[in-house]
Amino acid sequence: MSEFRDDLALTSEWVARYLERVGELPVLARVAPGDVRARLAAVPPERGEPFEAVLRDVDEVLLPGITHWNHPRFFAYFAITGSEPGILAELITAALNVNGMLWRASPAVTELEEHVLGWLAQLLGLPAGWHGHIEDTASTSTLAALAAARHLRPGCAVLCSEHAHSSVDKACRLLDVELRKVPADEAFRMRPDALAELLGRGRVAAVVATAGTTSSTSVDPIPAIADLCEREGVWLHVDAAYAGSAAVCEEFRWALAGCERADSLVVNPHKWLFTPIDCSCLFSRRPDVLRDAFSLVPEYLRTSEEDVTNLMDYGPALGRRFRALKLWAVIRCYGREGLQRLIREHVRLGQLFASWVEAEPGWEICAPHPFSTVCFRHEGSDEENEALLERVNASGEALLSHTRLGDRYVLRLAIGNARTTEADLERTWQALRDEAGEE
Ligand code: PLP
Repeated sequence: MSEFRDDLALTSEWVARYLERVGELPVLARVAPGDVRARLAAVPPERGEPFEAVLRDVDEVLLPGITHWNHPRFFAYFAITGSEPGILAELITAALNVNGMLWRASPAVTELEEHVLGWLAQLLGLPAGWHGHIEDTASTSTLAALAAARHLRPGCAVLCSEHAHSSVDKACRLLDVELRKVPADEAFRMRPDALAELLGRGRVAAVVATAGTTSSTSVDPIPAIADLCEREGVWLHVDAAYAGSAAVCEEFRWALAGCERADSLVVNPHKWLFTPIDCSCLFSRRPDVLRDAFSLVPEYLRTSEEDVTNLMDYGPALGRRFRALKLWAVIRCYGREGLQRLIREHVRLGQLFASWVEAEPGWEICAPHPFSTVCFRHEGSDEENEALLERVNASGEALLSHTRLGDRYVLRLAIGNARTTEADLERTWQALRDEAGEE
């Protein structure tokens, strides 16, 4: 055990030091395909090695192949944060190493999970009384929600906007459900008139609305969509994987308006609520339907307790990590006020960046930007913008990603890391202008 204490001290020092210096590392990994594997031992060790040897290889072999998602100038996809309370809680989760498949298998896992999802519902202004549980990713949460909808209406289709996340396509493929895409308006929101028309053709099991689409963070008109779903008796699932977290601030609750009438809703604290990946929260107004769709109890899992929740009954996986611990730690250590402060700062930085782009000749904003994500481009062709992005990313200074809006290639900057400052944004804007050949 004394060796373990020494290793623990070494590892905690490694973690603290990494977080202190991550901002000095190139954001994008600088390796070619196969470089990392070429440096790994070809065969497993015959005899056990000291943990120090593992740590050494983390530094020398793995770190060059890491793209630093915890870097303050990581602005690609949706930027995320491995926050300090989240990291510490993950360590305890690993030490406990419990599997919360059944209440009995570890009562605290089930009870904390249900309780902390109740806290999250309060923080986001969601209706009291919804059931909430944690899945690994929004992809799984959406799969579970659509499986429940299909359970009620087998053989019927799912509808979502052309801007919905590809996880909806994948869920439908896995569930063998037909997916029909609803056209969007000029601001990339689902068009209720087009939805009404598709619903009018009948045989629909579910509609997926998005609050904060992946490309542009547009918000579908959920109240109008909820009206239509109610009229047709169709399951409404809301994908708020990114923008749901913004609802900790009252001024962004508009994005979830109408969600109280949804049947299910997913929010990913591992996107914009400072919780280390993986943590996706699936709320449902109709947990009984989820249970009907998923509950399957072999003899060896039968228990005598009544009136307990067995979380294995609510989704595709049996085994489950103790994920609630990190979400609980994050919410406790930041508090509502700390979470609001960070979200507001990220939105402020997003708007500031957009104002710089808007004011600069030769640059253009390409979509409304209600949160902390900005779609923009430089004058010139798609290929020139793609090459510009490649140069900025290769510089190691910052990492951005891209998307396509309409038929145009656009650059995309998403702020979501708790360590990002205005100075980081200035450096990134400078790098973009330098690489575009401007002063
Ligand atoms: N929904 C939206 C709106 C997303 O942006 C994403 C990923 O970026 C997902 C779902 C899928 O998330 P996950 O990686 O948790 O499956």
